[in-house]
Amino acid sequence: MDASSEAIFVQDRSGCIRCWNAAAERIFGYDRHEILGKSANLLLENDSDRRFIEAQVLHHGQAVDARSTLRSKDGHLVNVAVTWAPVCDEAGHTREICAIAREQGRFVPDELAHALDLAPVIVRNLKGTILMWTKGMQMLYGFSAGEALGKNSHELFGTKFPGPLAEIENLVRRNGYWCGELRHKRKDGRQIWVASTWTMHRDASEVAILIEVNVDITGLKQAQEEIRRLNLELERRVEERTAALTETNRELEAFAYTISHDLRAPLRTMQGFGQALLEDYANRIDSTAAGYIARVANAASRMDALIQDLLAYSRLSRTDVRLEPVPLISVVRAAIEQLGAAGSGIEVRQPLFTVLGHSSVVVQVLMNLISNALKFHTPGVAPRIRIFSERRQGWVRLTVQDGGIGIEQRFHKKIFDVFQRLHGVEAFPGTGIGLSIVRKGIERLGGRYGLESEPGKGSRFWFELPEVTGDGTRKTHDSIGRG
Ligand code: ADP
Repeated sequence: MDASSEAIFVQDRSGCIRCWNAAAERIFGYDRHEILGKSANLLLENDSDRRFIEAQVLHHGQAVDARSTLRSKDGHLVNVAVTWAPVCDEAGHTREICAIAREQGRFVPDELAHALDLAPVIVRNLKGTILMWTKGMQMLYGFSAGEALGKNSHELFGTKFPGPLAEIENLVRRNGYWCGELRHKRKDGRQIWVASTWTMHRDASEVAILIEVNVDITGLKQAQEEIRRLNLELERRVEERTAALTETNRELEAFAYTISHDLRAPLRTMQGFGQALLEDYANRIDSTAAGYIARVANAASRMDALIQDLLAYSRLSRTDVRLEPVPLISVVRAAIEQLGAAGSGIEVRQPLFTVLGHSSVVVQVLMNLISNALKFHTPGVAPRIRIFSERRQGWVRLTVQDGGIGIEQRFHKKIFDVFQRLHGVEAFPGTGIGLSIVRKGIERLGGRYGLESEPGKGSRFWFELPEVTGDGTRKTHDSIGRG
């Protein structure tokens, strides 16, 4: 029994161990003298396993083959395949159970060698001479052991290294280890990529050898290369399109600017001659003719306003907007002054903070908001306008509030589009470009805009720009950059 490589032990009907061989000692760690007479429950962890085995073997007299985990003396669990067989007396009654257990999950040396031989491993000396060549290597490269052993591995594979070989060898000597990607050639001439790991090992006589494990990653590399190629192609196409779009945009803007500019000259001529007619021929034309001339002059100045607004709009796209600290108080004052609106019922509430923006763009935006607030007042009621600012988590919101006619909710978004007007020019003159300039200006400064308004209850148009602290830097806050 002791010659067996399998653990053999016998337990009686009460579970007491009666017999214990040498392999059982080795596998479970108990010496024979300390386990004999003890309960087999010491080994069998699992209650339901135990009950099943007893029922089958003791009561039905049947042998059971099972995979179990048995607990060894030092507490660790051993995976075993066990045959639990009944031992019967002459009368045929089961007296004892004999267990024959074979350890699982551990290789006997032959199996281990066989399994390792399938791995793509070579053993070589530091110069590269191949000392061991596995079947796994043969499968990967196509060379038999006879063709590979004794050869220089770098020459055999035609290795292309990611850097100078001397440097890699120094790293291996220093760290005992190197890994990287290499290009190799198979026996059939096909190029492959491998992820290579070199581990240095010194044998008993202190001679250094390298264990090199090569895993084929050619498919992975090809996929990476394809992704890189597609990305480059995509970038190239995006660049081409962007360049084409930029060029078209530039041409369009130049065109719009020139047209608007050139259109103003004939208009001024019409206005000038209309005026001259009215002044120089006042006593020779009747009131109807004077009315017609006034209407021509009026139409000319409306067209002039339209062209000026279009110019301002197109200028906004072309100017280089460089962000700088802008004290709101100075731009509000400049806007009111340029509108000639001082003393028109505008209340400016302090403090107004400093924002990151661009002075002339913010002045333009404010002029449009303030002139609208002055214009869209309830007929018969003098305009009352309030300008104030609030800090909002790293942003400053500037509001232009009026007590005018107000705007229905459904138009709140639309009126920021070009040429969107809610009234005829007879009721309220205008071009429908003012708020689109506000939108474009604030967008170019990286800010936000909006309004709160109801018909008959006035409007609060606002925009938000990042706050600048006293030392001129942008106030940092988590919410900056949101929305
Ligand atoms: P414009 O003022 O030249 O008509 P805008 O683009 O500035 O053009 O404004 C678009 C439309 O939005 C206006 O025609 C008007 O109907 C509405 N609007 C703008 N501001 C106000 C305001 N403060 N109160 C009421 N309606 C306004």
